[in-house]
Amino acid sequence: MIKLDALAKSIALATLTMCATASVGFAATPSTMAVSAASAAATPLSASAQRVQAMLPKNWSSNVSNAKARLGIPETEWSGMVERAINPSDYQCSNTAMNDWIDGLDVSDLIGAISGIYYATGDLDFAYSAVLDFAQYDAMLFGYESKANRFGRNGEYTQLLTAEMKDLRRFWDVDGENVQLVPMHGSDVYGSVDRLARLIQNAYIGVDDELANLLGQIVYDNVQANPGMLANGGHPYLSLNAFAVGSSGQAGGAILMGDGIMQAMSAVGLGDVAPRAILGHEFGHHVQYQKNLFASSLPTAAERTRRTELMADSFSTYFLTHARGESLNAKRLLPSLQSFYQIGDCGFTSSGHHGTPNQRLRSATWGSDVADQARPQGHILPASTFDAMFEQKLPEFVAPDAH
Ligand SMILES: [Zn+2]
Repeated sequence: MIKLDALAKSIALATLTMCATASVGFAATPSTMAVSAASAAATPLSASAQRVQAMLPKNWSSNVSNAKARLGIPETEWSGMVERAINPSDYQCSNTAMNDWIDGLDVSDLIGAISGIYYATGDLDFAYSAVLDFAQYDAMLFGYESKANRFGRNGEYTQLLTAEMKDLRRFWDVDGENVQLVPMHGSDVYGSVDRLARLIQNAYIGVDDELANLLGQIVYDNVQANPGMLANGGHPYLSLNAFAVGSSGQAGGAILMGDGIMQAMSAVGLGDVAPRAILGHEFGHHVQYQKNLFASSLPTAAERTRRTELMADSFSTYFLTHARGESLNAKRLLPSLQSFYQIGDCGFTSSGHHGTPNQRLRSATWGSDVADQARPQGHILPASTFDAMFEQKLPEFVAPDAH
């Protein structure tokens, strides 16, 4: 079995041989990608790659590398787990069951597909995105809420999440009807050349029909040639993410729930609590959008992000514990969430930092306590009142010695 973090070692070989059939891989870090691009420049391109390169629009490279941000896909603690697996030296997280599970996945077919797409296009960034990002792009661009949607690889979370979404819309005093609940499946996007071409044309700027079809065909062929990409609804890496999409001061947007992240949660024994907590958290971000709660005078980006993430955690547990929410038993809920937060990120100074496991647990426990104190009358606090209470508590949640 090949692991992604072993790829850096084979980069020189890979770029020098440019061989589609050899078992080679490529490193994902920007620095090693630069190395590989430099090596590749000195290597004759395949005929296919020469054709593709001649057709690429201007600024293609920034076009590809900025696509995720342009489409509005945020960095999340979940997407960070894939990056940690690819480039472990950038991440200081201690090993957790989730990291072990991710590290143990066989990625040889992902590498095969990346290698093949690179060989046929001469573009490593594109090859990586075509394998690791396209399922997210497709859900982001073309996903929508529908009764026909299913959640989880075998639809195992469809009922749970659909029912919870209904409850969330009733619970919070915001417009939840226009927030769509959208699944993110790993393999669907690779179903046809047409679907891939449509994605490529919408994700990147200046791609004409001919180039979109050519790139779509290349991606399609290389994915089909590596069946582990598609097995059982798609490799978990392809959809290992969940996030809220919205804009401050506006209703609407979506919550995208990836099969891969739910599969990973279930594999490490978090059962159905984790998907429920994730959905409650992401809906919390929509409450923040609509109530303009992202605004903050905190001095650093890391502190601002941590504040809104911890707030979303407490929104989630308030709802999950509340008698008029999911009415989950706090004594059972919180131990599950404890292991859930252990999974969380360790990028303490990063602008994408979600809070330490302890900070998250304090915020979550507090949200749950507020709900418990509301029993038995069943009053639901307005979101802005709940936020005002949260702001009072935040210094306690983040102080290292707080309890
Ligand atoms: Zn969040």
